Amino acid sequence: MDVYLSFDDGIQSGTKQVLETLKANSVKATFFLTGSFSNHYISQDETNFLCCLKDIYENHSIGNHSFSHANEFYSDYYHKGLKIDNSDLRRSVTDDFKLNKNWINTYLARIFGEKKINESTLLAANQVIQLGRLPGRNAWRINPAIFNSNQANFLISIDDVDTKQEADMLFQDGYQIFGWHEEWKMKFELSSDTRSFFKQNIETIVGEYNSPNWDLHSMENFKKDRLTEDYQDLIDRMMTKRNSEKLIILMHDRAFRTGYKKNNTNISPEISIKYFDNEREKLSKMINTLKQYNARFKTLDKFY
Ligand SMILES: [Zn+2]
Repeated sequence: MDVYLSFDDGIQSGTKQVLETLKANSVKATFFLTGSFSNHYISQDETNFLCCLKDIYENHSIGNHSFSHANEFYSDYYHKGLKIDNSDLRRSVTDDFKLNKNWINTYLARIFGEKKINESTLLAANQVIQLGRLPGRNAWRINPAIFNSNQANFLISIDDVDTKQEADMLFQDGYQIFGWHEEWKMKFELSSDTRSFFKQNIETIVGEYNSPNWDLHSMENFKKDRLTEDYQDLIDRMMTKRNSEKLIILMHDRAFRTGYKKNNTNISPEISIKYFDNEREKLSKMINTLKQYNARFKTLDKFY
């Protein structure tokens, strides 16, 4: 069985821990990057951001996951485009993906030099096929001529209702749009927090509507957006599909972040270790269990 680990919404708190775990286990994955969340992370730790981006470019594959993540208003995003400020201006989904591509390429060019980075595409070093994933939707649009498969049901577009047109346009722009088969389940409290933030503050926001820069290690937030099931639950579900030749797993970088920031005096190390400092161990155990089942780990551009 080929297993495709995919991590969404980076680069953010947790990306570093995921990358360390993948390296320790000699496994490759696909990172669906989001510019606005990466921007937040840069404001907290630019050095680590650049290290993570360099590592992803050199060792894994990059996917486009939009710049804005729809500011968490998905239905609005796919029907009308992203509301960017208090005027009537909206940014289309394709423009939001273009912005993300340009934004990531600007940083890649800073790390590797402009000559090495082709700014018309978004690709890692060993990648030739562009990948996309729609925020908040399990939608697929992949070219069967490239990704030939005997698996009859591998083209499952579960969330096609409001994304069909946008997925088609991104596909025409050169992206292979991938959803997922299994998700390592987690809570998404921060998405609801973001929606509440906009609902409460929409009248007073001056300029662009950027998603709030939540401190994922603060007392209010360090327990939010965490895994809600053990790795074995995920493996059990995967094993019911073990006759499938390919399985894509969706995860989120932030679920694997440590519990507290060293300079955060509000949370004691004991509490932090009790909660979440060892989340990366769960990822390691998941990978090793799959290795025992002879899983081969590949990046999504090799989904053939
Ligand atoms: Zn996402």
